Amino acid sequence: PAPGAPDIEIARAATMRPILDLAKDRLGVPPEALIPYGHHKAKVSLDHISSLKDKKSGKLVLMTAVTPTPAGEGKTTTSVGLTDGLNKIGQNAMVCLREPSLGPCFGMKGGAAGGGRAQVIPMEDINLHFNGDFHAITSAHSLLAALVDNHIHWGNEQNIDPRRVNWRRVVDMNDRALRNIVVGLGGPAHGVPRESGFDITVASEIMAIFCLATDLKDLQRRLGDIIIARRYDKTPVTARDIGADGAMAVLLKDALQPNLVQTIEHNPAFIHGGPFANIAHGCNSVMATQTALKLADIVVTEAGFGADLGAEKFLDIKCRQSGLRPDVVVLVCTVRALKMQGGIAKSDLGTPDAEAVERGSVNLIRHIENLKKYGVTPVVAINHFVKDSDDEIGVVQRICAEQGVTPAIAKHWAKGGEGAIELAKAVVEQLEKPSPDVATIYPDDIPLKKKIETIAGEVYRAERVEFHAGAARSLKEFEDLGYGNLPVCIAKTQYSFSTDAKLVGAPTGHTLEVREARLSAGAGFIVAICGDIMVMPGLPRKPAALEIGLDETGQVVGLA
Ligand code: ADP
Ligand code: MG
Repeated sequence: PAPGAPDIEIARAATMRPILDLAKDRLGVPPEALIPYGHHKAKVSLDHISSLKDKKSGKLVLMTAVTPTPAGEGKTTTSVGLTDGLNKIGQNAMVCLREPSLGPCFGMKGGAAGGGRAQVIPMEDINLHFNGDFHAITSAHSLLAALVDNHIHWGNEQNIDPRRVNWRRVVDMNDRALRNIVVGLGGPAHGVPRESGFDITVASEIMAIFCLATDLKDLQRRLGDIIIARRYDKTPVTARDIGADGAMAVLLKDALQPNLVQTIEHNPAFIHGGPFANIAHGCNSVMATQTALKLADIVVTEAGFGADLGAEKFLDIKCRQSGLRPDVVVLVCTVRALKMQGGIAKSDLGTPDAEAVERGSVNLIRHIENLKKYGVTPVVAINHFVKDSDDEIGVVQRICAEQGVTPAIAKHWAKGGEGAIELAKAVVEQLEKPSPDVATIYPDDIPLKKKIETIAGEVYRAERVEFHAGAARSLKEFEDLGYGNLPVCIAKTQYSFSTDAKLVGAPTGHTLEVREARLSAGAGFIVAICGDIMVMPGLPRKPAALEIGLDETGQVVGLA
């Protein structure tokens, strides 16, 4: 394909190695430890994963980014490119990514398998049904929903207040018409009428649980801990109380095995789990990351959105719960993102403007400062776009030098691993130094309000936090119920450090308004909702789906 060809053409032109061969000679995983899904995808068996327990773990590289534009700044693309670059310079590296959701695929953002010459393949399968994990998660979620309504229908032994059922339904699609529904209509034979609604599968608590579980047992325990409703006396009812945990775990047991695929350059990739980065923590499964660390010397993994959300949650939730710690953090920065942070409109980001980059660089600086608070000095990957001018790139390089961080220009989108060699070398150089002493930003044993205030003050640099009455009440209640030691997962816009998407750069003096607090007892965090939050996105006026179809030969076209 020509330079700049559509992702799907580049992906389809790539040759693929049989996955069983690749697993054997790249990872030392024998064929009998794999469950193949066709020739180019396989799951790694849980038995094999447990057999790796005592092996030494490799090094972990976290990929995060500056505050993104709506198109994304290339964390996935750079994760793939860096992995290919590392292998090019003789390292044994693999990548761990989230599974794409059908919502964005058919909506606005498109697929999530990287881009240009830095992609994971088979791209269509990965972007669409893949190995059925999201269907399994949707089914487990639906099973619990059905069991809740059934429990109420058949005598309601748990005294569930139908007005206080918080367990909704999910589907992996952007479908705003399902946001608010009434179930149980049609008379006594058809259940008890109550209001409910659908969320997108990636917003399901089961998705978050799936991604934080360390094994099947932990998965089932977490599923049982899910709070589905309140009784008439307001006490919480769990999935275990209505006997749902066992059957849900059964539906998820195969899905919990990480999916192995390859990059265009035949390097191994795990793609597993895909929680939303707002209502959940936005990283691939702990199972995949931990297994990858046993199989490769270097593992590159991505956390959703900018570092204020993605890296914060990766470090304060995923690392806290799993014991994982990154050895190096890469901060992806693009000229266009900094221009947007410098106040340039989305439609004008293609025009060279080094001054705007300079203005917007306060955003980069703040992300660097924030990461230092966690004890890590990031490597900055300047994800190069063909339209970037030398002046613009020069500004970013100078800012990095002033901040004492290493910048590396990365051209993997255009050139594959070859284009990421400078970045790979910068990462290896960091890896050769002693690993940083990475700390979470708040301890477990402070009040929930204080945890939110710490993130707001240290990471968002808000001047104050305002808790709406309901949110304050909920936080107090969660503490009384014994959940005060959980970390908090803040749901807010990814487009600003503040809750106002238009407040670009490095805002200070703003207020973080906490509108609502929710308890994800199974996932093991409290969600603090600040500003609008999409748990069921809608499709745009011209959804990507309208461009997607089959050509005469039956091949998929238009998938971006
Ligand atoms: P993120 O993971 O940060 O959301 P992605 O890696 O998915 O971002 O990239 C977002 C979009 O931008 C994708 O369509 C990708 O192909 C495109 N992209 C990323 N890097 C480049 C680049 N250097 N040049 C052109 N397009 C790019
Ligand atoms: Mg991504």
